[in-house]
Amino acid sequence: MSVYKILVDPDPVLRQKSLPVKNINAGILRVLENMRDTMYAADGVGLAGPQIGISKRIIVVDPGDNLLEIINPEIIDFEGERFGSEGCLSVPGKVGWLKRAQKIRVKGLNPKGESIELEATDMLAKVLQHEIDHLDGVLFPDKAIKIRTDSD
Ligand code: ZN
Repeated sequence: MSVYKILVDPDPVLRQKSLPVKNINAGILRVLENMRDTMYAADGVGLAGPQIGISKRIIVVDPGDNLLEIINPEIIDFEGERFGSEGCLSVPGKVGWLKRAQKIRVKGLNPKGESIELEATDMLAKVLQHEIDHLDGVLFPDKAIKIRTDSD
């Protein structure tokens, strides 16, 4: 098991737009495995490439019941609205109040390189939208209606 250091805002890598993965090679699979270990070690529910300094379109999420590892994820449909609170391992000490789509459809590749498409609602939809935002250099405070810091 190998755990990465998680970059923290205002690290400039967090603001870069990540590049699509062209080849799912051993290096990418190793990164995914380490991202998974890093997410669990940090008690997170999701982690995106840029958070560990790798500007590639890869995410791991696990809102509690199952692990998803998605390469080149893309949201192809948004439906409804849902307000909720969000935090981020890269924005420690802050919690934001945000509006997200209640239901989304996501397509991408699994670690075997197979095309996948899934529908997500509520908590999973929120985590996926948050992680996919990271791939475009977007952090939750950019979209938050309200932000609370631990010192408030
Ligand atoms: Zn985050």
